[in-house]
Amino acid sequence: MAKKEKIQIEVEVTSKALEVKHVTCSQGHSLSDDEVKFEGHPSIKLKVKNKNETGFIYLDPIYGSYNKIEEGITLPENAVVEFFCPECNESLTDPHDTCQLCSSPLFVLHLPKHSIIEGCLKKGCIYHKLKIVNAEKQLGRLFENDTLESYL
Ligand SMILES: [Zn+2]
Ligand SMILES: [Zn+2]
Repeated sequence: MAKKEKIQIEVEVTSKALEVKHVTCSQGHSLSDDEVKFEGHPSIKLKVKNKNETGFIYLDPIYGSYNKIEEGITLPENAVVEFFCPECNESLTDPHDTCQLCSSPLFVLHLPKHSIIEGCLKKGCIYHKLKIVNAEKQLGRLFENDTLESYL
């Protein structure tokens, strides 16, 4: 078998089956908050800025959920906001990408093993995505010592 086949693998995450637990800013500060919980799961706490107003926002850590709680700020529908790490004030805006649905800026949260979650910064937009950055490498390792036939 000399011919190289291109293998495409899609990882499907069942909606609401995944809890985001080890989410951080790019400096490694944990964004999990034990004081505000969604159905027993620690929320993701972020500093939020809309024009000249700042407050906090707590996100439901279940991937695919859109529950959120605003604290000290009331965000109007369709507001395009900015998120910051509550600890180091780092902007969490993704400098490389914009929303595929509404072209607004995206925020990016870091997960273990260089994976990321990105989401739209426009209130009311539901776009978000889990990116397993090293998926190819990890799958490469999986197939490295084996032939594809042994899996079929
Ligand atoms: Zn930080
Ligand atoms: Zn959007």
